[in-house]
Amino acid sequence: MPAFDADRDAVLDRARGSGVTRIMIPGIDLASSRRAVALAEAHPEIYAAVGVHPHEAETLGPTELNDLRALAAHPKARAIGEIGLDYYRDRSPREAQRQALAQQLDLAGELGLPVIVHNRDAFADVMAALAGWPGQRRGVLHSFSGDRAQLSEALAAGFYIGITGPITFPKAHELRAVAVAAPAARLLIETDAPYLTPAPRRGQRNEPAYVRRVAETLAEVRGENLAEVAAQTSANAAALFDWSS
Ligand SMILES: [Zn+2]
Repeated sequence: MPAFDADRDAVLDRARGSGVTRIMIPGIDLASSRRAVALAEAHPEIYAAVGVHPHEAETLGPTELNDLRALAAHPKARAIGEIGLDYYRDRSPREAQRQALAQQLDLAGELGLPVIVHNRDAFADVMAALAGWPGQRRGVLHSFSGDRAQLSEALAAGFYIGITGPITFPKAHELRAVAVAAPAARLLIETDAPYLTPAPRRGQRNEPAYVRRVAETLAEVRGENLAEVAAQTSANAAALFDWSS
C-alpha cells in the first residue's frame, strides 16, 4: 500500500477515535480541489470545498473558473473555498486576489453554495467584497483572528466564525474573548490542517483528530460541556454545508 494511503487511513482512524464524524476538505487551487473531491468520493464522512486561495489568485483564469464550476457540481462538493484575501503574505498581487475573490463569490452565488473565507490583514476589503456579493451570503470566516469589533461586523453580515488551534495558545486572550462573545449558533470548529495545531502538539502536523482539543478549549472558556459544544458545532456545520449531522 502506498505510504500516502496508509497515512490517510491512519489519519481517518484517529479522527473517528476522537469523535470526528464529518471532515470538510477545502481546496487551495485546482489540483487540490480535485483531490478534495476525490477524497470525498472515497470516504463517506468527507466533504469537499473547491476554490482558489488568495496565494494562488493568479492561477485563476477563465478555464480554471469553468473547471471549478464543473468540480463544484459534484454532489459532495458543498462550498466554494478557500477563497479570500491575504495581505500579510502578499503572495499574489492584491488586485489579482480581489478579482479571484469576486469571481469565486459570483460562482458560489450562481451555484447556491456557501463560501469558506480566508482573511489575513485584509478584513475591511474582505467584508466589502462580501457586502457586494449578490449570493445568499452564507459562509464561514475560517480561522477567525479578528477582535470583538470585527466579530460584531462578521456576525451582522450573517457569517459563521471558524475557531482553530490558536484558541489553545497561552497568549490568545482576545481570541478566547471572541469565542466567548460569539453566539453558539454561529461557531464552527476546524483544524486548518496541516497548520495551527492546538497545544500541547503545537508545531507538529495538524490533523482532524486534534479538533477535539479545540472543542474542549471552547467548552472550557464558554463554561459549557464538551457534549454541548460538539452537538452545537456539528449542527452548525450541518446547516451551513447541508449534510446530516
Ligand atoms: Zn486559510
